[in-house]
Amino acid sequence: MPNREPAQLPVTHLTGIGSQTAARLQKLGILTVQDLLFHLPQRYQDRTRCQPIAGLAPGMTALVCGQVEYVDTPQRGRNSVICRISDSSGLLSLRFFHFSVQQLQLLKPGTQISCFGDIRMGFNGLEMIHPEYRILHAGDDPTEPALTPVYPLTEGLAQTTLRKAVKQALELCLNSAGALPDCLPATIRQAHNYPELAEALSTLHQPPADLSAATLANGESPALKRLAFEEFLAHHLTLLLGKRHYKTWQAPTLTVNDSAKQAFLAALPFQLTAAQQRVIAEIEADCRRPQPMLRLVQGDVGSGKTLVAALAALSALSSGFQAALMAPTELLAEQHFRNFIQWFAHGDHQVLFLSGQIKGKARAATLDALADGSAGLVIGTHALFQDSVGFHNLGLVIIDEQHRFGVQQRLALRAKGQTAGKVPHQLVMTATPIPRTLAMLQYSDLDISVIDELPPGRQPVTTSAIPSERRAEVIARIKHWAAQKRQAYWVCTLIEESEQLQCEAAENTALLLQETLPEVRIGLVHGRMKAADKDAVMQAFKRGECDLLVATTVIEVGVDVPNAGLMIIENPERLGLSQLHQLRGRVGRGNRESYCLLLYQAPLSDTGRQRLGILRESHDGFVIAEKDLELRGPGEIIGNRQTGQIPFKIADLIRDRELLEPVQRAAQLICRDHPESILPLVRRWTGGSLQNPDELFHTVYSP
Ligand code: ADP
Ligand code: MG
Repeated sequence: MPNREPAQLPVTHLTGIGSQTAARLQKLGILTVQDLLFHLPQRYQDRTRCQPIAGLAPGMTALVCGQVEYVDTPQRGRNSVICRISDSSGLLSLRFFHFSVQQLQLLKPGTQISCFGDIRMGFNGLEMIHPEYRILHAGDDPTEPALTPVYPLTEGLAQTTLRKAVKQALELCLNSAGALPDCLPATIRQAHNYPELAEALSTLHQPPADLSAATLANGESPALKRLAFEEFLAHHLTLLLGKRHYKTWQAPTLTVNDSAKQAFLAALPFQLTAAQQRVIAEIEADCRRPQPMLRLVQGDVGSGKTLVAALAALSALSSGFQAALMAPTELLAEQHFRNFIQWFAHGDHQVLFLSGQIKGKARAATLDALADGSAGLVIGTHALFQDSVGFHNLGLVIIDEQHRFGVQQRLALRAKGQTAGKVPHQLVMTATPIPRTLAMLQYSDLDISVIDELPPGRQPVTTSAIPSERRAEVIARIKHWAAQKRQAYWVCTLIEESEQLQCEAAENTALLLQETLPEVRIGLVHGRMKAADKDAVMQAFKRGECDLLVATTVIEVGVDVPNAGLMIIENPERLGLSQLHQLRGRVGRGNRESYCLLLYQAPLSDTGRQRLGILRESHDGFVIAEKDLELRGPGEIIGNRQTGQIPFKIADLIRDRELLEPVQRAAQLICRDHPESILPLVRRWTGGSLQNPDELFHTVYSP
């Protein structure tokens, strides 16, 4: 690209950045000069003034200047050397653990030095541990004009290298007009009193001495808020653009056949809840329009989303179109398949199953039936959307447990299933409730329906936290439980280890439990088993031929066995609250009392205790999700599985949550009055999420 903006130049353009440093920077996601500017300090040091020794207190980090009084000579058996310095106000000890003889010789009494480090209380008053220090010569000024940034690093990358590089990047971009364009429309910037981009970046990298490091650190500075705002805004606009683009397409109009629907409902052993009916009506209204539906159904575990999906599918089928339901795991896909076969048994629609495990002739036959339209409904895993799968006239795509799929996958799927210039309607379902404002940001490409009611008669799951020392008691309880002809789950979790280790842990647990409980019929499922074997075990469990199912978190989503009313979760402290809530949702499906035992490793941290407490007290997925967010510190990276799939560079969903609403208003304003800002923002912040942002933009804004 000729005439590249300086901000777009590769980092190697800067002096002192060779290919080796560039490779290290790349590990931090830094490729261009602009990336460097958006790599913000994690904290700051104040070296803007020398602090008088008399004003120091333990816990402070300070720059101190003084004269060396004496250095104690290293002695046998001592691992540190003390150097005493004084200024006009007092005495301070500097303690060094690593030192060379030459170094000590330079610290002669009377020498002026400056030192920077943490203050603590030592044996002889205040001391500074292993400070950075410098010998001062006449005329030297040890102070810095701005706060000193401390950047997140990666192995082999020195703080000073990064500081120098950022300094150059700032000079390059901030001193020449247009080098780093401000994409935020001035009206929005002014409405929030935000500084301009260049100013915000220079404030954050080189904060003026009068801006306290504390203000910067707690995320309250307008400079940081501005960047977080812009980042949220860019993501929001990216998704909105994706949505508006999709809505420019045509979709088949799907109208449900009333008598087919009545027959379908009459065959169910229960009535739909009011919430299910409302959400189904919303979906039906969407599908009757000639623009594609893009709807998210949020509903707590057990709220009956599968049935809602089935009724949506019925709309497609009764209008002569195909429908496809994709689940994140084989296990879940198979379970849906069985339900759908049963529910659609009375109509004349063929229901097929497709996953990576279906091979050879069976696969060829399935593909043929989908391509020629003889099969109306297919349930499967992501294998459904491989290139080799072609549909005759796909009218509806349903994605279950969408939190398992990333934003990119969600957007990519939309390119699938186009026939004769039409795209299918899209319904996504998730059991991971997230607070409304968060949902509006993360799912801004979707319209949202909420099933906020559980089917009647459900008993809340009694939840207790039990330390792992009381494992024997828990095992005795299983024996008792099984004797009452009720079933149970034992969930093994090991999140930071490999899936293989997790599976081995489940295998070992199953063996040990079987030794202790010979009379209990124990089954095992984990992610590494063959689909057929897994399926056989699950089916046996469903039929009640097995009392205790030992499992990894593969059972997290969707598995439905009403007679299973006891769940033991090992190491619950390692999982997110929402994930635990999902797991627990496997029990409490029948109308009898049910229990969830959280078998934790003592001691629990304070937050750990609080988190398990929330789970004991609440059964509302939305409340739990909200608390889950509150209990994470602002610096903590939010697990992708928990709160969606957007990896923010600067913004923090918790720290900056008050920006979420204004960001949505700003996005509306930009779409209406400043569409020219959309592409620059999208390109700057979200790069690859949309495959072709320019093309999408042009179809939406200049069709
Ligand atoms: P989820 O929303 O977690 O996917 P499911 O769709 O698996 O929940 O439904 C959970 C259970 O509730 C299933 O056994 C389902 O048949 C049953 N169910 C769904 N709707 C109702 C209803 N209206 N009344 C009673 N049971 C229902
Ligand atoms: Mg489900």
